[in-house]
Amino acid sequence: MRFSALEILKQGLTGNKGWTQHWRDPAPKSNYDVIIIGGGGHGLATAYYLAKNHGITNVAVLEKGYIGSGNVGRNTTIVRANYGLPGNSEFYSHSLKLWESLEQDLNYNVMHSQRGIINLFHSDGQRDAFVRRGNAMRNQGDDAELLSRDDLRKMVPYLNFDNARFPVRGGLMQRRGGTARHDAVVWGLARGADQRGVDIIQNCEVTGIDIENGVVKGVQTTRGPITAKKVGIVVAGRSSQVAAMAGMRLPIESHILQAFVTEGIKPAIDHVISFGMGHFYISQSDKGGLVFGGDLDFYASYAQRGNLPMAEHVMEAGMALMPAIGKAKVLRSWGGIMDMTPDGSPIIDKTHINGLYLDAGWCYGGFKAVPGSGYSFAHLMATDTHHEPAAKFRLDRFKTGRSLMDEEGTGSQHNLH
Ligand SMILES: Cc1cc2nc3c(=O)[nH]c(=O)nc-3n(C[C@H](O)[C@H](O)[C@H](O)COP(=O)(O)OP(=O)(O)OC[C@H]3O[C@@H](n4cnc5c(N)ncnc54)[C@H](O)[C@@H]3O)c2cc1C
Repeated sequence: MRFSALEILKQGLTGNKGWTQHWRDPAPKSNYDVIIIGGGGHGLATAYYLAKNHGITNVAVLEKGYIGSGNVGRNTTIVRANYGLPGNSEFYSHSLKLWESLEQDLNYNVMHSQRGIINLFHSDGQRDAFVRRGNAMRNQGDDAELLSRDDLRKMVPYLNFDNARFPVRGGLMQRRGGTARHDAVVWGLARGADQRGVDIIQNCEVTGIDIENGVVKGVQTTRGPITAKKVGIVVAGRSSQVAAMAGMRLPIESHILQAFVTEGIKPAIDHVISFGMGHFYISQSDKGGLVFGGDLDFYASYAQRGNLPMAEHVMEAGMALMPAIGKAKVLRSWGGIMDMTPDGSPIIDKTHINGLYLDAGWCYGGFKAVPGSGYSFAHLMATDTHHEPAAKFRLDRFKTGRSLMDEEGTGSQHNLH
């Protein structure tokens, strides 16, 4: 069923009884051409583009819980392409272009809102770094604008400009950056993949990967064994655990990232604001809640919930940047498991096992990568060649030390990227 204004009118006049299910609930078959492990944003996007771009439709997405129960349904929904280093630049640029036509492509309203993202700076050194980053973004063909303190005073008057430690001196803005509704992205991709014949199988945990003589043969699941010619691991925070089923030890640490939302208030924050010095960022959802977050919890964990010290740190940073936030009541907080790599950049690559592929290491920035990652990983799985915008996301860079993409300049410190 296609969604359209006419269809809404028709359904509205006939009691809304004709809407069909978004996707089927099939039982797993015993064999597929391709198995995707993980029904998050990246797994669903991979299945969608395998079917759409490559005509490969005998595909199963195996999800241990329900689709969207992982990070893709837990993130703060920021979409941007403001990276500075080769490798990341072209990839995120491609991903942002896919976002810009995703709703038409999926025939689904994912509430993509290009409200602009502003990264604040507070010192001359930070301004210089942002100028370099902005130039790199423009060289890539993306938009970037340096804003003065006076520009910002007009646009975001609620900030504490004269904070003694972090006076706001200006910002780097990408107007094409913004947000999208995370659940809708999951549902739209699932519907699009299902319409093209992909089986989305929920409550089906992969418990083992079958390999014979260096060739993948299929997977063991809680709903029985399934054979396949190709298997993709796309499980974000669980990447190390699932790769270990194939005897691999990944350069990934899993850390918790928390987020917070307040009660709904009248529209107050028109942009996404990032306060890197204080490890704090904020936007306002369409329901009115202030959505904000900060840094990772320090120790590695699979708990999918956060700790109080980081919650306190984020609240302090929020109060330092915009004291008025103290009047809003926090309604909820939650955590997701981030797959942190040593250079903070992702992996889209084949493994040493024939037919086994890996898409991982998205750290805390993988939501905006969803369409780009699905597009490039599908290309790799279908053709066995790297898709150009993602060609630098190789696994062996952590072994050789060559071609690392360390945007933050923090070295091999997983928890700092
Ligand atoms: C609080 C928070 C804020 C964030 N904010 C942003 C942001 O503003 N912008 C941005 O770009 N990114 C953000 N991110 C990061 C982004 O959400 C992740 O990088 C991205 O969602 C990870 O990819 P995914 O969607 O495929 O992961 P997931 O949704 O976690 O998908 C992986 C799936 O694999 C499944 N799985 C695991 N093991 C198995 C198994 N053995 N068998 C079957 N299935 C399995 C899981 O259940 C899960 O559903 C944020 C993350 C968090 C937690």
